[in-house]
Amino acid sequence: MPRPIEALVHPDALARNLATARRRAPDARLWAVIKANAYGHGIERVWPGLLGADGLAMLDLDEAQRVRDLGWRGPVLLLEGCFEPRDLELCSRLNLWHVVHCDEQIDWLAAHKTHQPHRVFLKMNSGMNRLGFTPAHLRSAWARLDALPQVDEISLVTHFSDADGPRGISHQVEAFVQATRDLPGERSLSNSAAILRHAAAADVRADWVRSGILSYGSAPDFPEHDIAHWGLVPAMTLRSRLIAVQQLQPGDSVGYGSRFVAERAMRIGIVACGYADGYPRLAASGTPVLVDGVRTGTVGRVSMDMLAVDLTPVPAAGFGSEVTLWGHGPRGTRLSIDEVAHGAGTIGYELMCALAPRVPVRVV
Ligand code: PLP
Repeated sequence: MPRPIEALVHPDALARNLATARRRAPDARLWAVIKANAYGHGIERVWPGLLGADGLAMLDLDEAQRVRDLGWRGPVLLLEGCFEPRDLELCSRLNLWHVVHCDEQIDWLAAHKTHQPHRVFLKMNSGMNRLGFTPAHLRSAWARLDALPQVDEISLVTHFSDADGPRGISHQVEAFVQATRDLPGERSLSNSAAILRHAAAADVRADWVRSGILSYGSAPDFPEHDIAHWGLVPAMTLRSRLIAVQQLQPGDSVGYGSRFVAERAMRIGIVACGYADGYPRLAASGTPVLVDGVRTGTVGRVSMDMLAVDLTPVPAAGFGSEVTLWGHGPRGTRLSIDEVAHGAGTIGYELMCALAPRVPVRVV
């Protein structure tokens, strides 16, 4: 019998989440961000769920090639642009739009011989201080691009650092609007958190929004809000089963390092899922988990192939009981990946991207 662990990918959930993004920014066009192999879900697996997007945004040329091979004729945007001059060749061939965030990328374009002019998204650094031209250098970059016969359309893009945090986005929006005031071209500002929290402002929506994590049913501002608050549905389930049950007496410990010591007699279940499957090793005791759809918590340290859960709230559970690590459980129950991430001091993004190759995946 195979080890009883599997991941399920739900393309319908992704389609619903994209529809939610669209409702929040109805006058904008919608990029579905599918970098990192659709945030770990697998581009080909979620494919039917992506078809409601207006464009697909990603990092890798390999992913761009894959979506063209799947038959996508619409816009494709490379969010970090080209990594070396020869990438421009493929951009021409596959008709990819690409971000330009530094002078080197403009130099490459200037030297590039192309029959088909490029559409570029000039990136402004409005405060994230990761990629992009500062407000002071944006205009000269724009003028250089505008003078190139290799470029036929220039759009403008920036990225928020704190759309889900207390600092918010107004300082970045202001910097962007100010610096781009009289430049022509389409704009793209918002990521998931901005779509969910700040899309009431027209400046923030226009003209393209970039829906990443929310498409996969994770709320970027957890724990302030959970996915139910935003009407999001998990696009990935990780589930397993109990492969052993232990009866603990007061003073008994569980797992490596004896991190959990029972204060009372209790039953625990051993789940066939560990950090080699992508479950976070740093998950603290008490990280939520569903056993037969009933919410309980982990106990002790997560091992490579196993973790332990408290069976006190599920007395009927035993060998073979279904365990939902995140996503959809039995009888319509759900456990958000954000809650698990929170228990491990990380974010849902990291967990979905870290699903291990050894876990079999089914599309349902
Ligand atoms: N736009 C850019 C430039 C990004 O780097 C990302 C992801 O990091 C996104 C959009 C999507 O962000 P999120 O997943 O938070 O929606």
